[in-house]
Amino acid sequence: MKDKPFAITLDIRSSLANHTGAWRAERPVYVDRTPPCNNACPAGENIQSWLYAAEDGSYEAAWRRLVIDNPFPAIMGRVCYHPCETACNRGQLDSAVGINSVERFLGDEAIRSGWTLPEPPPLNGVRVLVVGSGPAGLSAAYQLRRLGYAVVIHEAADQAGGMMRLGIPTFRLPRDILDVEIARLLELGIELKLQSKVSDVHATMREGGFSAAFLAIGAQLSHRAYVPAGQSARILSALSVLGDVNSGERPMLGRRVIVYGGGNTAMDAARTARRLGADEALVVYRRTRDRMPANDVEVAEAIDEGVQMRWLSTITQVDGSRVQVERMMLDADGVPQPTGEVEDITADCVLLALGQDVDRSLVDTLPGALLVDGVLQTDDSMMTGAPGVFAGGDAAAGQRSVTAGVGTGKAAARNIHAWLQGTAAAETPPGDVATFDRLNTWYYSDAPHAVRPRLDAARRVSDFAEVVGGLDSESALYEARRCLSCGNCFGCDNCYGVCPDNAVIKIDGAHGYAIDYDYCKGCGICVAECPCGAIEMEPEVT
Ligand SMILES: Cc1cc2nc3c(=O)[nH]c(=O)nc-3n(C[C@H](O)[C@H](O)[C@H](O)COP(=O)(O)OP(=O)(O)OC[C@H]3O[C@@H](n4cnc5c(N)ncnc54)[C@H](O)[C@@H]3O)c2cc1C
Ligand code: SF4
Ligand code: SF4
Ligand code: SF4
Repeated sequence: MKDKPFAITLDIRSSLANHTGAWRAERPVYVDRTPPCNNACPAGENIQSWLYAAEDGSYEAAWRRLVIDNPFPAIMGRVCYHPCETACNRGQLDSAVGINSVERFLGDEAIRSGWTLPEPPPLNGVRVLVVGSGPAGLSAAYQLRRLGYAVVIHEAADQAGGMMRLGIPTFRLPRDILDVEIARLLELGIELKLQSKVSDVHATMREGGFSAAFLAIGAQLSHRAYVPAGQSARILSALSVLGDVNSGERPMLGRRVIVYGGGNTAMDAARTARRLGADEALVVYRRTRDRMPANDVEVAEAIDEGVQMRWLSTITQVDGSRVQVERMMLDADGVPQPTGEVEDITADCVLLALGQDVDRSLVDTLPGALLVDGVLQTDDSMMTGAPGVFAGGDAAAGQRSVTAGVGTGKAAARNIHAWLQGTAAAETPPGDVATFDRLNTWYYSDAPHAVRPRLDAARRVSDFAEVVGGLDSESALYEARRCLSCGNCFGCDNCYGVCPDNAVIKIDGAHGYAIDYDYCKGCGICVAECPCGAIEMEPEVT
């Protein structure tokens, strides 16, 4: 039983003289609101629910709630950009709950303890093809298997993971973590065919007896930009350098490296260059820092590691080791414009990190499928123009992140299931979001968030060791307890204790409390005193 922090108990309906009947104008009702964190998580996790379980140290129960939506807590706890924390109401009180760090703790605890995913249901005889084993493909395969389908993943590379393996550096996502979470998912009986590039979706579907397919092929091609260059210029794709390093190679980039671009790939490439021995790694980006697509934490970590930034600059020419950089200025619409002011910088190589494109070769062989603005066009149910062929992750429109990939994989599984059943996928509308103004924050005491340990910047660039550490059990417990349970009752007994007419009764069920309207005067004290906004007044029914 959890501690009831605000418990004040009275005997049930002890003041029976207050039988007040229906002379209220408004009545209190218990509600369930959508917590802002849940609403912001691209993977659709029920964060509040797993934090609630973690609050009393029930870590396995918390992990089990989490993996219903996302089978990769240890991965997410390392690479997710945690928009849930940006949305967290606690951020307006002191600082956001460290959701991501608790998620990582649960993920690591599961690995340490060897927890396995729940046994899936027996196979229903229907087979689904998944193309690509990045986060989107793996998440779709997981959810489809949980719905009873036989799933086969075809993966072009020789290992599973997509950009989690080929792109994200090991100092942010150690490969033993990635390996364990993927292996645990495959143990559910999902078949993975490596080095099996699909070049004709319909042919693969026919051969494998598949009734539907999910394309999760990502955006794997480095965007090509024309940079005038002399023959001796050394211009490389940042993505291929990251891929080589992630495969165990140690390419010689030289002492001075320029990275061209402003996204996360650029940050990872510059940080990797430092670890490969570059004394100087300079990021050249056309706009200002606030317009950089790279995540703020990644930019800050890169700067800590000695990466230099040159904002409002573009590369106009590369000739041998001479790199000509032109200064830019933003016009009234925020679009960078050339100024004509140029400067030469010397560099041993230039790494291009200007975005990624979807490989259209597969799309071109699939009648009905279309690329629009560089991504696969899909309808509201995520189906491409080819009946029964769905698409998600980086290959389709939307956010490009591991978390969004997991979320779209889950949504695709639901849509594929509905299509195979001849029904429409049940959409769960987000519901009324529990905003900060609905909380009674004076009930909550200040509690600064637990900080994750980080390797010293000087130590970091000496090798590829993981930079950010995890929370220990005590800090994870503390951090989970910082959750305000926005919009949903957490059983504090406050309403039960403060009602002057003892009209609040305890019941078994979803809320654990109910109002006895024969005794409630409609004074609204319970609403005013509920810390988390789980009761509201509504007009009296006449
Ligand atoms: C350097 C870098 C760092 C990043 N860092 C982060 C981060 O920290 N956090 C974050 O959230 N996101 C990050 N991202 C973005 C994130 O990795 C992607 O958004 C995500 O991996 C996309 O998932 P996906 O499943 O759609 O595609 P991918 O991960 O790209 O996987 C696609 C898979 O499909 C396979 N494939 C392609 N075509 C075929 C075919 N015809 N047949 C069979 N297989 C095929 C590919 O080999 C690949 O394995 C980063 C990306 C990069 C490049
Ligand atoms: S996956 Fe990301 S957004 Fe979702 S709960 Fe975890 S950290 Fe937050
Ligand atoms: S306080 Fe808890 S429920 Fe509220 S937004 Fe933050 S994590 Fe979610
Ligand atoms: S409804 Fe609010 S006041 Fe009543 S027990 Fe739940 S959290 Fe506490």
